Amino acid sequence: MIAKSVLKTLRELVGSENYSDSELDKLLYSYDATPMLRQKPDAVVIPRSAEIISKIMMLANQAGFAVVPRGSGSGLSGGSVPVENSIVLLFPPMNRILEINEEDFTATVEAGVITATLQKAVEAKGLFYPPDPGSATISTIGGNIAENAGGLRGLKYGVTKNYVLTVEVVLPSGDLVTLGTRSIKDVQGLNLKDVFIGSEGTLGIFTKATLRLLPKPAASKVILVHLESLAKVGEFVGEVAHARVVPAMFEFLDQTTIQAVEGYAKIGLPTNIAALVLIELDGHAAVVEEDTATVFRIAQKLGASFVKAAESDEEAMKLKLARKSAFSALARLKPTTILEDASVPRSALPQMLELTQRFSKAHQVLVGNFGHLGDGNLHPTCLISERDKDEVHRSELFFEKVFNAAIDFGGTITGEHGTGLAKKKFLERAAGETQVEVMRRFKAALDPNNVLNPNKIFDSRVFFKTKCERRIA
Ligand SMILES: Cc1cc2nc3c(=O)[nH]c(=O)nc-3n(C[C@H](O)[C@H](O)[C@H](O)COP(=O)(O)OP(=O)(O)OC[C@H]3O[C@@H](n4cnc5c(N)ncnc54)[C@H](O)[C@@H]3O)c2cc1C
Repeated sequence: MIAKSVLKTLRELVGSENYSDSELDKLLYSYDATPMLRQKPDAVVIPRSAEIISKIMMLANQAGFAVVPRGSGSGLSGGSVPVENSIVLLFPPMNRILEINEEDFTATVEAGVITATLQKAVEAKGLFYPPDPGSATISTIGGNIAENAGGLRGLKYGVTKNYVLTVEVVLPSGDLVTLGTRSIKDVQGLNLKDVFIGSEGTLGIFTKATLRLLPKPAASKVILVHLESLAKVGEFVGEVAHARVVPAMFEFLDQTTIQAVEGYAKIGLPTNIAALVLIELDGHAAVVEEDTATVFRIAQKLGASFVKAAESDEEAMKLKLARKSAFSALARLKPTTILEDASVPRSALPQMLELTQRFSKAHQVLVGNFGHLGDGNLHPTCLISERDKDEVHRSELFFEKVFNAAIDFGGTITGEHGTGLAKKKFLERAAGETQVEVMRRFKAALDPNNVLNPNKIFDSRVFFKTKCERRIA
């Protein structure tokens, strides 16, 4: 528990209207979108400026409490779940789009801006902010930078880090720095900016960012394909790659997910097909037409039972929304929804899809699978009840196998949701002892008192020697 006198100082620092230690607020901010992780904070505060955050960090170091930054709490690895003796930091007032620069193709925003709000604002000016997490209507830019969020356009356009030019950060010490520059080319010094992007709120608190924009694509087309098996889905990805077509969006839903989405969104999806693939092609109109013809040819070659291009923007939007509702739709089937995001190189997708199905049968867990097919980022989702301890255990065994398979294929245990609390026990197997130790030392150098979002990604503990150091000793 944080001492009452410290909480009083904190309250005076942020102002009573920006402070709460009510039981209701502590409960509200005790969890994020990750299941089975809950911890009440001692208080919740809303800082109104970077300077106030800086003072909060100085107080945290003096008084020894932890600070957990939280955007919208849509994270899927427990990153914004409080820890013991912690306060939660919220960003709702820091939600201004400060500038859209039509000459430099940049947008400067505060950390609490909602991703979709930025997307809409720049699109109104003929510009385009490509990162498009499925949670774009709720997630914040600060949360996106902290998780290096990916989303539906990763294959063609990359992920959040590809669009961050500068980021203003309050360091754990309370110092305020701006990492990166507004220049497209920038190699001055060590590239600290990219170390902070994806640091899951453990290295610094983002308050502002300048993001790179692109011109809005002139044309786009959304294509829906029904396939008779998951094996065909794997083949489809390979054929599209061999045809040298790079879709802006390349998603898939398996049968369990299709049935859940149709039950939820009622948009007329057939519930008896094995898999559905959703592709968006964008760019110059002539190229989009040519690529559309190629995708149709591939679908027919693979015996697709149905292939259709959306005939209007409304129809295209409806299909994309159906895909984006997959998580919420699956969540209605059982009390507990565990969604993971192991990623593999595209060439390993056919085997990964097949193995995921095999593991779910072996451990008798209901799994809906969907995800960002084009970049190999699958979202096998276990539907269980956390009250059924045996089912929880079986789901753990299932995910352990999925993660091990992803690692063996040269992939990762998390393509976009982060390690957080949920996957930290797998990090050493995935990244190796030495790499995790380097991460731990980096964190300790910046945050010696371990006050900023501690024990996320890895447990902070007494250092041990790396293999080489042991050899030298
Ligand atoms: C339905 C659904 C669909 C999703 N789809 C995708 C997807 O397609 N792609 C994808 O990548 N993710 C997806 N996610 C996961 C999640 O939305 C992203 O990780 C998102 O970036 C989190 O943003 P947030 O504002 O909710 O952050 P939070 O969940 O509040 O926080 C996430 C992490 O960021 C840290 N953090 C938050 N704000 C700051 C800040 N200002 N400074 C420093 N650290 C901060 C927190 O401490 C925490 O570690 C999805 C989640 C849901 C529920």
